[in-house]
Amino acid sequence: MYLKRLEIQGFKSFANKIEMQFDNGIIGVVGPNGSGKSNISDSIRWVLGEQSPKSLRGSKMEDVIFAGTTTRKPVGMAEVSLTLDNTSMLMPIDYGEVTITRRVYRSGESEYYLNKSSCRLKDIRELLMDTGIGKEGYSIIGQGKIDEILSSKPEERRLIFEEAAGIIKYKTRRDEAEKKLNATRENLLRVADILHELE
Ligand code: ATP
Repeated sequence: MYLKRLEIQGFKSFANKIEMQFDNGIIGVVGPNGSGKSNISDSIRWVLGEQSPKSLRGSKMEDVIFAGTTTRKPVGMAEVSLTLDNTSMLMPIDYGEVTITRRVYRSGESEYYLNKSSCRLKDIRELLMDTGIGKEGYSIIGQGKIDEILSSKPEERRLIFEEAAGIIKYKTRRDEAEKKLNATRENLLRVADILHELE
């Protein structure tokens, strides 16, 4: 499985639609300071469901939409599509190619698509859970992250390795199960109260 194609439109400095094709191998992106290299990795993190504007070097989610320049008006929508090769069928879906799309409008509305069909962020997260890709999967290591890993305490470092080893899926399921358990406990308490009132 590898990143095959990235299409960006209206995201950060990319006002016009751009398309990048990648081969299976090492890719280097070079360019002058401020030309948008980091905006490319931000777009990948964003389409995979990043919810924190701070991680995308902004203060609010609207900051990812092209804000205009002296010569160009702002746009109203940002859209990123990322295509992964799935001939190995690592993703549990019956397609050799999977395209994930995210779109956001200035109103704050976010939309997600899987192979052009509307879906929830949860569907994308579940699809990527076993692949090592995803915003918590350490498949994207930001500037300063290596220093952070090397200088972290052993327990914190262990957490990072555990996450990279793919236990995120089990942690997420445990958190979901705990939430359901708590909701059920509260419901039981309410039922006990009602029964008490009826007696
Ligand atoms: P460096 O080599 O210095 O790290 P870089 O090539 O990684 O630079 P980026 O940080 O990706 O560059 O891009 C920064 C540019 O993106 C800045 O010129 C900034 O004005 C522009 N930019 C960021 N957000 C937006 C936005 N919402 N609208 C328009 N331009 C934006």
